[in-house]
Amino acid sequence: VRAAREPATVDPVARLVVDVSLAHLDRPFDYLVTEAQSAAAQPGVRVRVRFAGQLVDAVVLSRHAGSEHDGRLSFVERVLGSEPVLSTEIAALAREVADRWAGTLPDVLRLAVPPRHAATERAAGRPRPAARAVTTATLDRYDGGDALLAELADGAPRVSWAMLPGDWPGELASAVAATATAGRGAIVLAPDARDVARLDHALRSVLGDGQHVVLTADLGPAERYRRFLAVSRGDVAVVVGTRAAVWAPVHRLGLIVVWDDGDDLYAEPRAPYPHARDVAVLRAHRVGAGLLVAGHAVTAEAELLVESGWARQLDPTPAALSRDRPAIRVSGTDDELEQDAAARAARLPTRAWRTAHDGLRDGPVLVQVPRRGYQPGLACAACRTPARCAHCGGPLARPAADRAPVCRWCGVAATAWRCRACGSEALRAVVVGVRRTAEELGRAFPGVPVRTSGAGSVTANVDGRPALVIATPGAEPTADGGYTAALLLDGWIPLSRPDLRAGEEAVRRWLAAAALVRGSGAGGRVVLVAPAELRPVQALVGWRPRWYAGRELEERRLLHLPPAGRMAAVTGDAPVVADFLRAVDLPGTAEVLGPVAVARPAAGAGATPVDRAEALERMLVRVPRTDGADLAAALKAGLAGRSARKATGLLRVELDPAVVG
Ligand SMILES: [Zn+2]
Ligand SMILES: [Zn+2]
Repeated sequence: VRAAREPATVDPVARLVVDVSLAHLDRPFDYLVTEAQSAAAQPGVRVRVRFAGQLVDAVVLSRHAGSEHDGRLSFVERVLGSEPVLSTEIAALAREVADRWAGTLPDVLRLAVPPRHAATERAAGRPRPAARAVTTATLDRYDGGDALLAELADGAPRVSWAMLPGDWPGELASAVAATATAGRGAIVLAPDARDVARLDHALRSVLGDGQHVVLTADLGPAERYRRFLAVSRGDVAVVVGTRAAVWAPVHRLGLIVVWDDGDDLYAEPRAPYPHARDVAVLRAHRVGAGLLVAGHAVTAEAELLVESGWARQLDPTPAALSRDRPAIRVSGTDDELEQDAAARAARLPTRAWRTAHDGLRDGPVLVQVPRRGYQPGLACAACRTPARCAHCGGPLARPAADRAPVCRWCGVAATAWRCRACGSEALRAVVVGVRRTAEELGRAFPGVPVRTSGAGSVTANVDGRPALVIATPGAEPTADGGYTAALLLDGWIPLSRPDLRAGEEAVRRWLAAAALVRGSGAGGRVVLVAPAELRPVQALVGWRPRWYAGRELEERRLLHLPPAGRMAAVTGDAPVVADFLRAVDLPGTAEVLGPVAVARPAAGAGATPVDRAEALERMLVRVPRTDGADLAAALKAGLAGRSARKATGLLRVELDPAVVG
């Protein structure tokens, strides 16, 4: 029999966030602490409590003299150490993120705070000396670049930065150094381990050893927790990492950098599916920190930050642009194939073959081939503009070869379709064609070594000797001294993917590959094989990422699509989805599209092939941006109702999903 416990004399009430992910219980709960627990149970510290009969984890949010709760309060069972792992800043940000994405606070905290590792907690930290920049790059390739560096010491610039090919890791590291040497903290986000490694290297050369930590998902639990503690204790002020690093509890945060924010790896695959760039925007706004959204491409989201006046743009000077970008030409899809028999077998147009052939005299040549596995979309037969639904603007696709085209969003059959670009009434399926093999491409350039890099095995870097380097998008190795040339093949394939972001994604992938090629001043050349008149193709040829983002945003504004509007995807078992949306009190402006059949969402990132028996239904809800908070609140209330009723059946609610195919 346990002795009766007495509450602490000062502030005996601990307000807790309890790790129970039920929407109707998404609020703080009050518990009592004893005198013995009182000193350790400070805000941010982990505890164990009884909740609905179970022993569960919780974190102290705050301490109070009394409670507004009427009933008798339970005591905290145990206090787990005395390490504060949740600052008031992160707790408030997590609450905002939960509300914005119709999720629960415990779900968001699971993304933000790594699991406890008690032995690591007991080990003492080691404060690092103050940062002193060793060497920094200038930002004089950009209009206002050096003014930005000066401002980073004590200001909070918010910038959409269209970066040139070349030393982008060094330029971003310089921005971080300007912040860190002024005694402020910084977070640098990159989509994957390869880019994190580049930034890690650049930060080390600018800041010296021991001034920053890398936070990625593949660290073991002890190491991840050790680095997290180094940040939360204030021993280290600069963090570089993948999407979860946006939550790093950096002290005196002065800057967040998001590199290549169009990469869908920034979309969290766990509920409530927040996007790291959008979390970075909220966090920078909340604490008054600077934000650099940087990339070779500019997303519609970044452009909206500029158009709304919240951020400004940072673009290359005309001289730096013409020097540092490669010369880019288009080879139309109907252009003549090269006469050379081997090149003809590889279906290489003359211009592409000659460019590669010449480039191979001086160094490596990159060949980007689209990844397979896209569901083929539909395009205008006359002008090849991707076909969109007349009713809702969604992408069209043929569910089966013998079936009529149907909208992937609203499910309406496209019976009287007309091209918005040219007025033609003829649709054509995008022919994916036979895959060009590495062997085939290699035979077109006899005597040249062929290297490949793809999803299965990614090569990080190649040396400067002549070689044909065949890679899928995102797997392109860097080349010492830069590629002499690049061929971007089958450009209509990524463009025809039936997805809202197909064009933006194609431009991003092409710019990323072209950025690995020497500047035009050094003879670098790129050939894109695609229909020349399409807007994404023009964006690449003119190296006009901001112009493209502006057009993209304008189009999404007309269709109330993110980021101009907000959209929710509600996916689940067929009757569940319809019942859920019927019960939700949606804003008056809400437009409900669907249902359509979709593949069962995979547990992790990316989609799995559709098993017909497992197909789910999806409905989309879109509203103007001003009603976004109301939409999220309505969906959250609907989820709370379901959770209170213990309703069964699969249901997933995703706000502003990165990919809507
Ligand atoms: Zn057309
Ligand atoms: Zn439609």
